[in-house]
Amino acid sequence: MSGNADIYHEMIVDYSRNPINYGEIENPDVTFHDANPLCGDSIDIDMKIDENKVTDIKFHGRGCAICMACSSVLTEITKGKTLDDVRAIQKNDVLGELGLEHLQAVRIKCALLSLKVLKSALYTYIGKNIDNSEDANKLKEEAANLY
Ligand SMILES: [Zn+2]
Repeated sequence: MSGNADIYHEMIVDYSRNPINYGEIENPDVTFHDANPLCGDSIDIDMKIDENKVTDIKFHGRGCAICMACSSVLTEITKGKTLDDVRAIQKNDVLGELGLEHLQAVRIKCALLSLKVLKSALYTYIGKNIDNSEDANKLKEEAANLY
């Protein structure tokens, strides 16, 4: 058990030093920003979407190790997926990758900020580009009730 915890801790440190998919996309199809003032995490996610698929995704901003690691994992999970599959991503899909399922309530906002930004970006995109406001509203609720 403690062996796993060490591995996860190392992964989080690695991702925070060398985040994956870090940067900006020129002319993104959608971009969204949000922050977690409790910790000072602040990130933007840019996406390129083509035929209902996320063809590229990048994030940038500042965050603590947990925030950067979860943003790396989430963007990696999201890349290449259809919008329906992205909608289906749950918080434990991200937390489980890094052994963070039992994170304290204070740090959960650090871990899930990127998922909140991703879901918000998605509802913004669906609201603008797909004539299905019911879907967009559902997603908006999902993003708001994430934690
Ligand atoms: Zn944080």
